[in-house]
Amino acid sequence: MRIVEILFYGEKQVKLVVEMPEPGRYTTIESPHLSKLLFRAFPHMTRHRCHNDIRASFKREARATEIPHLFEHLTMELQAQARPGTNLKGETQWNWRIDPVGRFHVYLNYENELLALGAIRLAERIINALDSHQIERVDTSAEIEKLKTLADMGDTLTASFPLPEPLTPPVLIPKTRRSFLRRYSRRKQEGK
Ligand SMILES: [Zn+2]
Repeated sequence: MRIVEILFYGEKQVKLVVEMPEPGRYTTIESPHLSKLLFRAFPHMTRHRCHNDIRASFKREARATEIPHLFEHLTMELQAQARPGTNLKGETQWNWRIDPVGRFHVYLNYENELLALGAIRLAERIINALDSHQIERVDTSAEIEKLKTLADMGDTLTASFPLPEPLTPPVLIPKTRRSFLRRYSRRKQEGK
């Protein structure tokens, strides 16, 4: 997977456009090793909450879910590990009536902008490393220590330069297409 767009907007929210390079391989059904390796590396993620169509736990949902949905949960997990007590939510959407197959929109809220950005980039690396069975190339403990440093820098930055008033959130789907959303799009929404 790759992140092709990162947009910070509104009141501590970030929207990502994520693309799966192989349109026929974007779920854990085609890549069952991914969720297994993810939970092995991050056992706490088995306790994540997840709101999905089948009312399954995240652990159960992860057996057959979209890879960007795993990525979404991992960004939250990494932020929480760097800053325990962080309260986060995320949502993964797609609508292939409008977008090319394999493109996902991931929405996250955050408490610390630099930490969020670091966690997003680290989660992307980890998902790809797990997918290619090369997680040993990422020293996750050392990377989480770096995230803690980033979080401290984020606190300093916010204290020095208060954020401006939030902008209006982006309108992503034209109103005339909204009727399609009910029939052709799916979404996952949850809290950590
Ligand atoms: Zn979820």
